[in-house]
Amino acid sequence: MSDELPDEFAGVDARPTSSYAAAPDAFQRLWTPHRMAYIAAGGQPPSDECPFCIAPTLSDEDALIVHRGTHAFVLLNLFPYNSGHLLVCPYRHVALYDDATEAEIDEIARLTQTAMRVVRETAKTDGFNIGMNQGRVAGAGIADHLHQHVVPRWATDANFFPIIAETKALPQLLGDVRRAVADAWPVGDPA
Ligand SMILES: [Zn+2]
Repeated sequence: MSDELPDEFAGVDARPTSSYAAAPDAFQRLWTPHRMAYIAAGGQPPSDECPFCIAPTLSDEDALIVHRGTHAFVLLNLFPYNSGHLLVCPYRHVALYDDATEAEIDEIARLTQTAMRVVRETAKTDGFNIGMNQGRVAGAGIADHLHQHVVPRWATDANFFPIIAETKALPQLLGDVRRAVADAWPVGDPA
């Protein structure tokens, strides 16, 4: 491991991503090795402030929102597992999937479909991980506000995970990804 990496990488199997086979896509530069330097900054927001309730009150750019629907919206994960990692959230502060309304569930489902299509088109993905962590014990970082993960996967990305899982992306780079996804999102979809 490079001496330039932050202490947080102690014990992590971190290697320069330049040593990996390239997965050519629009987001590729998010994972250049020097970007890992920012990992020391940032962290989870204060627990008394729900980021998924605050996000819709901000601009798309500030909140990394790529699409606003009627009952739910889509934003980039500030702490992505992979480049283009999206979250589909209801506007309502509701924790559990079975507490969501029929309209919310329907729109989350349709936004998830559109997210797959948009990311597949813009980033040439090979697959996706899609799902929800329900409760902190199940791995939910923000357990109080329902959110569906849409994580793009590439055939070459498996070795990235030890690094990506510890990585926080620069807001400016996330901004570039946000713009690419938002620009590709069909207008008014879902209506
Ligand atoms: Zn909330």
